[in-house]
Amino acid sequence: MSQTEHMIIHSKEGTQPFRYAVGMHGSFFFQQLRDHRKLMGIKCPSCKKVYVPPRGVCGSCYVKMNEFVEVGPEGKIETYTILRYAFIDPETGEQKPVPYGYGFIRLDGADTLFQHYISIDDESKIKIGARVKPYFSLEKKGNIKDILYFQVVDP
Ligand SMILES: [Zn+2]
Repeated sequence: MSQTEHMIIHSKEGTQPFRYAVGMHGSFFFQQLRDHRKLMGIKCPSCKKVYVPPRGVCGSCYVKMNEFVEVGPEGKIETYTILRYAFIDPETGEQKPVPYGYGFIRLDGADTLFQHYISIDDESKIKIGARVKPYFSLEKKGNIKDILYFQVVDP
């Protein structure tokens, strides 16, 4: 092909036929979320830090963790963004509807931040420090989409 010719790329539907394991701790987190609408963290026996979602080893102490603790379901926004620039959603292959909110939430009782969508029905309420609660899906899926988004709790 010469440099003056243009290459035409046709986009077609595709599938990605693979799965990955979320591990023992991730499985427990998603089971509790699906079956009981509970958000579970895990507490380090040494420094008492609570991780959400749960993981096997404390990142500070390098010790194994086994003590699950319920956190939330409410929390507060530590930081957030409102996306207004349309892009192709890699999960769907479709243009993602904008605007939407996305935030880092400190669930009550947790020391780490939990990332999820934040409803922007009333954008004036979206602030750092605002209290939020999860809005659960009616369908039980066993994945992060059991929470559709977080919404600001009126004081
Ligand atoms: Zn620790």
